[in-house]
Amino acid sequence: ARQFTRPLNDLANQWNTLLSAMAGAERVFEVLDEEVESRDEGQAVKLERVEGSVSFQNVSFSYEEDGDTLDGITFEAKPGEMIALVGPTGAGKTTLIQLLSRFYDPNQGQILLDGRDLSTIQRESLRSHMAFVLQDSFLFEGTIRENIRYGRLQATDEEVEEAAKLANAHSFIMRMNDGYDKVLKHGGSGISQGQKQLLAIARAILANPSILVLDEATSSIDTVTEIKIQEGLQRLMKGRTSFVIAHRLNTIRQADRILVLQDGRLLEQGCHEELLEQKGFYSELFHSQLKKTAD
Ligand code: ADP
Repeated sequence: ARQFTRPLNDLANQWNTLLSAMAGAERVFEVLDEEVESRDEGQAVKLERVEGSVSFQNVSFSYEEDGDTLDGITFEAKPGEMIALVGPTGAGKTTLIQLLSRFYDPNQGQILLDGRDLSTIQRESLRSHMAFVLQDSFLFEGTIRENIRYGRLQATDEEVEEAAKLANAHSFIMRMNDGYDKVLKHGGSGISQGQKQLLAIARAILANPSILVLDEATSSIDTVTEIKIQEGLQRLMKGRTSFVIAHRLNTIRQADRILVLQDGRLLEQGCHEELLEQKGFYSELFHSQLKKTAD
């Protein structure tokens, strides 16, 4: 499961290192742009508002010369829809997310956001409309308040707490010595995996993005915290286009559209019922694995 997010986590780690050294998110991306990414095209624009419709049109991509990591991916997400990405390790789920976030550009085909080719949008602008809640969301050394505020640096203390309340994080924060002023160690050691996720949700709520990327936790989290996380996520996802690398049947069932990936190809797409009717790969996966993990 960890493998699913390896590239994004590497990036989160880079962020962590950079964040220790500097404040503003914009500068972080500037540094990343120079180090690992090609520059924006001269005419790339800044987006003020994003509705959140996403369209992949025959998108292919490979990290290296040989063989496509993603091969001819086509799908549409309407504003506010929840899209679940399902498939075995190495299927290309993370890669699809990385293309959507423009960490890489497709070799072929087009990705459109609100009808506009992603390559014509400044990366920094694109990402200011996105938020990520990953299995290991990056927490830097600093207070809980600062860690949540990273979602929107201009947010007031009241806004930080409001976001924490919506995320169901407020009560655990208040139970700790120092509350919002508690200093977290690098990587957030000292709080539980579930609490880290609640903070990541609070941060994302504060960021108020149009596009959301979630990598659902696979590690076991106590039932009470899990319920809090699910509730927080529901509030976070409402009205935003969400891409969820999903491992749990309950999540997958709720999706407006499930993208079933294998070996870089989109085998099937549709909602849970539609895919069961097709009696293809998803239906097989469901009967052999997903059903057992239903909660
Ligand atoms: P998933 O998220 O479904 O597990 P990934 O998108 O991480 O799949 O990986 C798809 C394929 O691309 C795998 O074969 C993986 O080894 C390969 N891959 C992922 N990241 C890189 C990279 N940075 N460089 C080269 N190959 C990669």
